[in-house]
Amino acid sequence: MAAQTTQSWKIGDVTITQFVELTFEGLEAFLPLATPEAVLPIEWLNPHFITPEGVLKFSIHALVIETPTKRIIVDTCVGNDKPREMFPDWHMLQTSFLKDLEGAGFAPESFDVVLCTHLHLDHVGWNTMLKNDSWVPTFPNARYLIERTEFDYVNEEQEADEVEQWLKDSNRDVLIDSIKPVLEAGLVDLVSNDHQVCDEVRLVPTPGHTIGHVSVSIESKGEAGLITGDFIHHPCQLAHPEWSVTSDYDPAQSVVTRNQAFEQLADSPTLVIGTHWPEPTAGWIVRENDVFKLETTDD
Ligand SMILES: [Zn+2]
Repeated sequence: MAAQTTQSWKIGDVTITQFVELTFEGLEAFLPLATPEAVLPIEWLNPHFITPEGVLKFSIHALVIETPTKRIIVDTCVGNDKPREMFPDWHMLQTSFLKDLEGAGFAPESFDVVLCTHLHLDHVGWNTMLKNDSWVPTFPNARYLIERTEFDYVNEEQEADEVEQWLKDSNRDVLIDSIKPVLEAGLVDLVSNDHQVCDEVRLVPTPGHTIGHVSVSIESKGEAGLITGDFIHHPCQLAHPEWSVTSDYDPAQSVVTRNQAFEQLADSPTLVIGTHWPEPTAGWIVRENDVFKLETTDD
């Protein structure tokens, strides 16, 4: 797989660096209301976030946060060697993700914290890696922070009846190969949904996509940033906060969360970094004629 470009952003004394694992187009079945007819009229989505045909573009990437005292990785993508039969493009994946990270000066041993916004397969994959036929923690010196209700839900397999079977199966696979090995190594800290990670970084509750979903707030020297996680998957949801993905645990709550977050962020200087947004990946939410849109760094 071709090496991906790396972007980085500054929030005061904090640097955030992106490591892309995969980019792809499509997922119509996953965000069914975002048809080409519905997204093509949203002009600012073109060219970064949709193709000329109105197909959505996505990215799977990790975001490395460096504060003056901590090195943190937020969301660890799909990972290599993971059996994911129900997602053929992600099944037994082989990418240069870890080598890219290491090559840029981020050795796995150097991380203090691994932060998962939620426990879906594309956010926890590199929590572990395959070594001598077993799953071992990729970041052996890090504390892995997991929101407590999110952990209980997956660990106790408390899935609600309305959750689709494929998602239950996926959560179980993830538990076995990407959560239990770090738990058994004693590396997991269960935390609250507003946990302060260090002076500059804290969790913000953004429930709906999953039960204990969190976003990550960064504040330093009067500047602010927010890593979304999956409370929003694609920038088109700024224009349509009511569009939910089929894998939302509570679609109604996810709409409430998006509306609240956009209201708060609109016309603020907070740099919003999207967990699945393709390049340029970050921007500012603005309100225009009562509709939200994203202003990107190259606008
Ligand atoms: Zn995701």
